Amino acid sequence: MNAQKRMEELIDILNKANYEYYVLANPTIEDMEYDKYLRELIDLENKYPTLARKDSPTKKIGGEVVDKFNKVKHNIPMMSLSNVFNEEEILNFDTKIRKEVNNPKYVCELKIDGLSVSLKYQKGLLITAATRGDGKIGEEITHNVKTIKSVPLKLKKEIDIEVRGEIYMSKKALEDLNKTRKEINEPLFKNARNAAAGSIRQLDSKIAAQRNLDVFIYHLPNPEDYNIKTHIEALEFMKNLGFKTNIDNNFLANDIKEVINYINEKENNRITLPYDIDGVVIKLNNIKDQQKVGYTSKYPKWATAYKFKEQEAITKLKDIIFTVGRTGQVTPNAILEPVFVMGSLISKTTLHNEEYVKEKEIKIGDTVVIKKAGDVIPEVVRVIKERRVGTEQDFHMTKNCPICGSKLAKKEEESAYYCINASCDARKIEGLIHYASRDAMNLTGFGDRIVEDFYNMGYLKNISDYYSLKNYKDELKVLEGFGEKSISNLLNEVENSKQKSLEKLLFALGIRYVGSKTAHILAKFYHNIDNLMNAHYEELEKIDDIGKTISKSVYNYFQNEENIALINKLKSFGINMEYLGELEIDNNFLNKTFVLTGSLNSITRDKATQIIEKKGGKTSNSVSKNTDIVIVGENAGSKLAKAQELNIQTWTEEEFLSHIGSSNEE
Ligand code: NAD
Repeated sequence: MNAQKRMEELIDILNKANYEYYVLANPTIEDMEYDKYLRELIDLENKYPTLARKDSPTKKIGGEVVDKFNKVKHNIPMMSLSNVFNEEEILNFDTKIRKEVNNPKYVCELKIDGLSVSLKYQKGLLITAATRGDGKIGEEITHNVKTIKSVPLKLKKEIDIEVRGEIYMSKKALEDLNKTRKEINEPLFKNARNAAAGSIRQLDSKIAAQRNLDVFIYHLPNPEDYNIKTHIEALEFMKNLGFKTNIDNNFLANDIKEVINYINEKENNRITLPYDIDGVVIKLNNIKDQQKVGYTSKYPKWATAYKFKEQEAITKLKDIIFTVGRTGQVTPNAILEPVFVMGSLISKTTLHNEEYVKEKEIKIGDTVVIKKAGDVIPEVVRVIKERRVGTEQDFHMTKNCPICGSKLAKKEEESAYYCINASCDARKIEGLIHYASRDAMNLTGFGDRIVEDFYNMGYLKNISDYYSLKNYKDELKVLEGFGEKSISNLLNEVENSKQKSLEKLLFALGIRYVGSKTAHILAKFYHNIDNLMNAHYEELEKIDDIGKTISKSVYNYFQNEENIALINKLKSFGINMEYLGELEIDNNFLNKTFVLTGSLNSITRDKATQIIEKKGGKTSNSVSKNTDIVIVGENAGSKLAKAQELNIQTWTEEEFLSHIGSSNEE
């Protein structure tokens, strides 16, 4: 398509989006799509400056003023902010500033995701509140703003002043509001910004009053009138007048490196804040410097907004498949057209259960918004119903186990369906994978694929089979993809797991409702597995944090003959069944891998292994570049030679004892 035609098309899309967003507070495209179109238009205008239109949305502030409100003139325009999206663009911003300012200092602020407001006071009393509108003229919203508790109606000084800030809705307030709206069948707000904008641009102030809005004040348009020289001073001045500022989260950076550090920290922690932020605003601190750098028609050149990486993405939900977990729970999963979010490629995500799919009104073939925040599992946030084309298919929960075909059961009080066939392959494999997982026995190397292959080949049928794998070493090492070394490593992991504290084993057994926290409570209370096996559920129930459901489940587990036989078998393999006490984290050991070699005189190997684990370390049987320390006893052989070759630190038995002795005294 030719550039001019595409530019016209983009302008139409953006103008329509601006109207729906700012005037109707009801956008029909996602912010990330809007940003993409705007970027495309900016790039085309930069490439073909002669084709750029004067009234382009890249040059205008997005809002408009609607007739239902009185109009308020902004004597000093309310501007937008330019955006930067990565480190390179931040550094470019700094380079441009430094062309005019020596040693610039920047104030970093959280970019609150709400809508901006101007508040005017006469003799310390709130007279007018207005939206940004088109930047020159805003809409009068005084009646609604007066309902916001954090907006002072009267200041601490009888002063004439205008301040500006952001009206927003906290995450909690949005959750409560949407809960109520759901009960009365009203459409839900997609995000806190839309909810705040929709609430403030109402004629009836009763609505705004119920919406729990809040405000942060961040701008003083006329600092010179109060003899203020820096932005930080302005914030303090406004705070002292009684305004709510976000000063505690702000940061005065000495250079752009400090700005980047602040951004990284806030980007990682944004999820913990009680309100939504979509970036960090970087502002020159010195007011004279700000004036020197100046403005474009749309934004100040002395500030910019770093926009966080998009946590959301739009993609197609191609199919819904079912998987079976170790408890037998059958879960629907979305198969997605692969899409990058926060640096990871997402192609599948859980849909939890039937109710979840119904609640979100998900159909197969839908266009969906997915979200990934930090380490959190990606989730389908919502369906974009406007994109439906009529070929989407309704979702039906399966009635049979997708693996063994047996009929699923549903417990009355739960929304999940279960495969109750105890010999279902899928359940068994999941149980084996769980046993090897990090918070359980931590059998590094036993990934999902290996466990499944070993299961299918008959080497691993149940948990205790891990401990007889060594009998098949010769067969295993000739399997495709394996060798002497990789099998030895796996077998070493199994061997070392025998010394783990009881809570790890309890969690690893996969007893229903026993997560790692509960396992720890039980291990600490009963000290060994026999005491726990003999406990009646009424006794279990009396323990803090152990409710009826858990106690019944634990009790039933240990009444089952097969489970008792499993425990006995594990005992016969020498697996520790005792609680080894609280971890005593010691930095000499924490996250380090130890190898013991030669014979130790004053301590058994099992005891030494337990002490290392208790202090936060791990043991392995072979020396590799991943080994941190080799503990060398008498008659040490090839492992010591290997350690020397790889330049790995060694401790004598005495040194080891002194480390555990000295750290014990701490
Ligand atoms: P902006 O939101 O990117 O940045 C400017 C605004 O940031 C200011 O006006 C102010 O309200 C706010 N802000 C928050 N904290 C601040 C602080 N500490 N200091 C200074 N300002 C602060 O710009 P914009 O022009 O208001 O809006 C553009 C955004 O709106 C885009 O990101 C776009 O995604 C979205 N939008 C979406 C649609 C849609 O259809 N989905 C349409 C139009 C705009």
